[in-house]
Amino acid sequence: MNIIHTPQMKDMILFMAERIIESKPLLTEVDSRIGDGDHGIGMAVGFTAVKEKLAGEEYSDINQLFRQTGMAMLGSMGGASGVIFSSVFLGAVKGMEVKECVDTKEFAQMMRKGLDTVKQRGGAQPGDKTMVDALEPACDAMDSCEGTSFGELFQRAFDAAKKGVEATKNYPAKFGRAKCLMERAIGFQDAGATSVMLMFGAFLEWVKKEKANE
Ligand code: ADP
Ligand code: MG
Repeated sequence: MNIIHTPQMKDMILFMAERIIESKPLLTEVDSRIGDGDHGIGMAVGFTAVKEKLAGEEYSDINQLFRQTGMAMLGSMGGASGVIFSSVFLGAVKGMEVKECVDTKEFAQMMRKGLDTVKQRGGAQPGDKTMVDALEPACDAMDSCEGTSFGELFQRAFDAAKKGVEATKNYPAKFGRAKCLMERAIGFQDAGATSVMLMFGAFLEWVKKEKANE
């Protein structure tokens, strides 16, 4: 698969939303160790809102699809992570020319713009023990993917995000509620970074499933 059209992208986002909702217990557990334990709930609320918003709609372009996804999250999640995770989707298509489909290079560019928006909004840099520690390496891994398939793109992004999650165990926390723990957060992975890894894992799983059905 080298190109994803808008209806397929909607399907992919809905598939990912389901996976995040299913991962609520895991994300709750991860956030309980160093945060306040609400990350799983917040993400499940956000992606349930996304499912409800997208379900009955038909989109003709990626721009509107991503905008509605981000707005559904922003309007339902609240808190720091509502702003942060909606920024991935809203930032991805901000100022982008209207596209009915995207190739791997365009998708990588969208995610990079999402990452830039997250960093602008939240002020976190790599090493601050946030979702940036998974999203930035995933974007870096996708940069070198020109001309490859979506299967390859998402495999590289997932692998990089996974490594990023592992690395968050070594960092003291600077953002979110975990920041009160500072050094004591060392040894535990970041919840938001874990969500990013799950998102790319779901994208990868979706591509494999689509290919099997071809
Ligand atoms: P809260 O911190 O309000 O309880 P959640 O538990 O839902 O929100 O989400 C926490 C996650 O949000 C953290 O694990 C981290 O990855 C991410 N996060 C928090 N603040 C920021 C920020 N300023 N920039 C990037 N990510 C952030
Ligand atoms: Mg929390």
